[in-house]
This record gives sequence, C-alpha cells and structure tokens, in this order.
Amino acid sequence: MAKMFIAGESVDSVTGQTSEVRNPATGEVVDSVPKGNEQDVRRAVDAAEAAFDEWAHTPAEERAKMLFKAAALVDAERKSLSELLCREQGKPVMEAGGEMEHFHHGIEFYAGLASKVRGSQVPLPAKNAYGMVIHKPLGVCGAIVPWNFPITLMGTKVGPALAAGNTVVVKPASTTPLTTIRVIELMNQAGFPKGVLNVVTGPGSVVGEELLRNKKIRRIAFTGESGTGKHVAEVACGDFKRVTLELGGSDPMIVCEDADVQKAITGAMVGRFWNAGQACLAVKRLFVFDKVYDEFVGGLVGKVSRYEVGDGMTRAEKPKIRMGPLHTAQQREEIEQQVKDAIDRGAKVLLGGARPEGEQYAKGNYYLPTILENVPDDSRAVTEETFGPVLPIFRVTSLDEAIERANKSIYGLGSSIWTRNLDNIETAIDRLQAGNVWVNSLHYGYDELPFGGVKASGFGREHGPEALEYYLEPKGVVITR
Ligand code: NDP
Repeated sequence: MAKMFIAGESVDSVTGQTSEVRNPATGEVVDSVPKGNEQDVRRAVDAAEAAFDEWAHTPAEERAKMLFKAAALVDAERKSLSELLCREQGKPVMEAGGEMEHFHHGIEFYAGLASKVRGSQVPLPAKNAYGMVIHKPLGVCGAIVPWNFPITLMGTKVGPALAAGNTVVVKPASTTPLTTIRVIELMNQAGFPKGVLNVVTGPGSVVGEELLRNKKIRRIAFTGESGTGKHVAEVACGDFKRVTLELGGSDPMIVCEDADVQKAITGAMVGRFWNAGQACLAVKRLFVFDKVYDEFVGGLVGKVSRYEVGDGMTRAEKPKIRMGPLHTAQQREEIEQQVKDAIDRGAKVLLGGARPEGEQYAKGNYYLPTILENVPDDSRAVTEETFGPVLPIFRVTSLDEAIERANKSIYGLGSSIWTRNLDNIETAIDRLQAGNVWVNSLHYGYDELPFGGVKASGFGREHGPEALEYYLEPKGVVITR
C-alpha cells in the first residue's frame, strides 16, 4: 500500500483507513492509499510550518541545487512512473511519459529562477533616506491538484513555491494519488529539510477543506472545476489567504479561409483528443470559415478516425493511434449526457458519438472520439465545458462572427487562431477573451509563459517567471541614515 509523506516520513492516516485506486481501463485495483482526515492535514501543516524558517533562509543557490537534484531523481524513474500514471489515470504510456517530461522541465525551470529573484532600491523625497522593495516567501502553501494532469499540475505549484522558499502540503485528487506520492518521495531524497514537501491523501471534502480553513496556511493554489474553485475562493479568500484558481475552459479555435488547413487539422486533432479530451486547455469549440469548411472537416474526420481506443498500457498498430479510456465512469456519463443533449437539439454526428462495442471494452470507461456539427449554441456541449473527446464544429463567415461566438462562453482560458493574415492575428489577440492566445499553434502550456484564465476560468497565473510572484510577498523597507 502507498503511504502519505509527512515530515520526511512515509505514514498511514491517523485512523488507519484506506481507499482503493482503480485502473480506468480495466476496473482493477492498482493500489490503495491512506484515507486522510483533518488531523493528518494538521500534522502535515505543522511539519511544513516548522520547516519554513530553515528553508526560507537556505541560500537560494542551495535550494536551486536541491530542486535540480529532485528533478533528476524523478526523471531517473520516468519509465516506471509513466506506467504507474497510465494505470491510475488511464492515459497512454506515451502521453504519461510526455507529462513526466513536462514536469521535469518545469521543476528545472523554477530551480533556475530560485537565485534570480530581485528587489529594488527606491529614491525617497525624505532627507538621507531611501526605500527598498524586497521579496519574502509566504509560508506554508496548500497545493490542490486534479486528476487530469496530476504530475504537471502538481509541478506548476510545487516548483515555484519551493524555489521561492515556501513549504508545501500537496493534496492530489482521490483517484490519482499514486504517482504523486512516489514523485514526492523521490523529490525528498534530494535533501529537503523534513517537512518542506508533504503529501496528504484523502477526500477533497475533508482533506482539501481543511487546507482551505487551516489558519497556518498562507496560500492556496487550486486547479480544478470552476464550481469547486468558487467554493475555494469563498472559503480561502475569506480567511485572507492568497489564492490562485486554474479552472475549467471551453477554448475556441478559429480556422480562417487562408489557414494552412493541414497544419490546423493536426492542431485540432491533438488539441482536442490528447488525454482523451480531458484537458482544461483542449480545443472545445471549433469555428471554421465557410470557404474551407468542407476541406477542413473532411480532413479532420479522416485523421481523427485513426484513433483506436484501448488500454493505455498497449500500443495501437500503426497507422492507428492509442486513445485511453475516460478517467471515471461518472466522467463518461457526463459526456454521454452532453452529446445526447446536442443530438436531441438537432446536432449531426460526423464521427463516434457512442461507446465502442466489444468484449474488450466492457470493463473500462471507453468512449469513441466524437465530432459533431450543427450543434445549437444553447446546447450543453457549447455552454458547458465538455471534459472528454467531443468536438463541436461551427461554420462561420467572418472573423467578427467567430470572435463574437467564441467570447459568448462563460469561460476564458485558452484560444487559438489559424491564419496567415496579420490583421486577423492582431484582431484575435486583441479581442479574444482568454488568458492565452495561440497563433497557428497547438494549445499547450509552456513553462516559460504565464498560463491562466479570465472569467469563470479563474484568476492568477501558473507557469512563467510570473508564477514566482504569487509565492513571494513584496515588503517595503525605509532606511534612514
Ligand atoms: P475538482 O474541482 O472536482 O477537483 C479538483 C481537486 O479539488 C481535487 O483534488 C479534489 O479532491 C479537490 N476538492 C474537491 N472538493 C474540494 C473542497 N471542498 N475543498 C478543497 N478541495 C476540494 O476538479 P476535477 O478533478 O474534476 O478536475 C477537472 C477540472 O479541472 C476541469 O474543469 C478542468 O478544466 C480543470 N482544470 C483546469 C486547469 C487550468 O489550468 N485552468 C488545468 C487542468 C484542469 P477529490 O479528488 O478528493 O475530490
């Protein structure tokens, strides 16, 4: 059985209770983990608080060295970690390997920034006096992580938090704690003082809730669904914690008449169906100009037909490409309801729209990659986030129309435009209501750039040097001679 990691030790929950983690492809139990409660969180928070002073005053260069070492220790086990991630999350091993690589890059990115934090000296109107702005770490930070990218989304929190000199308690999703636990054990082997990096497993309503309410926690970094995010903001901001929320998205992709159609098709395919569509920044609404609509849609349907659903531990025979199951049965039902609603309102299914048939699929949460057209704007597949392999396509006649419809969503996470026309590019960058705009480029969160949303997609940024700022408090100092 996997254990939590608190104060430098692998431990059970105080109650001794456990919960099972099941493989979405087979329904089999992968392992079990402690079912933590409030007391376990308090134990971890106390350990993180006790470790804070030493870690905050460890020279930044040393913190950086430990973070580089931590990244290397995890990377040395990339193969077995990718397999474990595949078995608990459902994504194909190849995609899990990509996630581990992204995590490695992100931790190294923040390790490199640890010693680059700078303040400033400020002239003041008072005689013989000057001001300074210095940056101090906050204290104990809570990192609440969802199941879709458990490792990269943990890294985007832990990396900047530790680099800046904070200590952390991680709460992984209940369905994906295993790889997280192993990664945190390995990172601790780099020599962090005990209590600097901890993980507590257990239900969000208990473990997550205690993180939001615990007075010793100064900051919450949350990634998850917008409804949960609203609750996180109400509770944690109400307690004066600093909060960042990385929430749901319904990213629009706009394909103009002068786009490189083949490149755009690949962008839409990977952008929508990677991780079986369970990505916050996935392409969730596709607007295609009338003039290239038939060519684009025909090409996309052909290309997406190459996906073969199956257990992510197995490879598809070329030219087929493996797509894993949905993460939970509940997630699949949600997608089925959204597709049914679209069809009931007149949508046409161009591909998929059902579970795959066959004995081999009986025990997994499989769903076929699905492309829909004629989806009414008031249907659930448009107004809600579709967190699965479903892509509604819309025909548009102008950029104005595309942008107006794109902006109708309550969400504002990512967006993309595919065109060779500079005016179109600048108009889209200026007018799309989103935290990120990709131009002729796959929806992907680079560590080098700030990433986050507007509207119901949340506030604050992860990734980029900007993320460090959310883990540092500016302190004004006046010095008089
Ligand atoms: P949830 O909001 O259900 O869960 C996210 C995390 O919050 C889990 O660890 C969960 O624990 C925990 N949690 C649940 N209830 C509480 C609570 N009351 N207090 C504190 N923590 C709680 O989201 P999903 O796991 O379903 O994740 C998918 C969502 O995440 C999608 O909407 C997706 O778009 C979004 N997302 C956003 C990203 C971004 O950067 N903007 C990136 C990736 C995903 P438990 O598992 O135990 O319930």
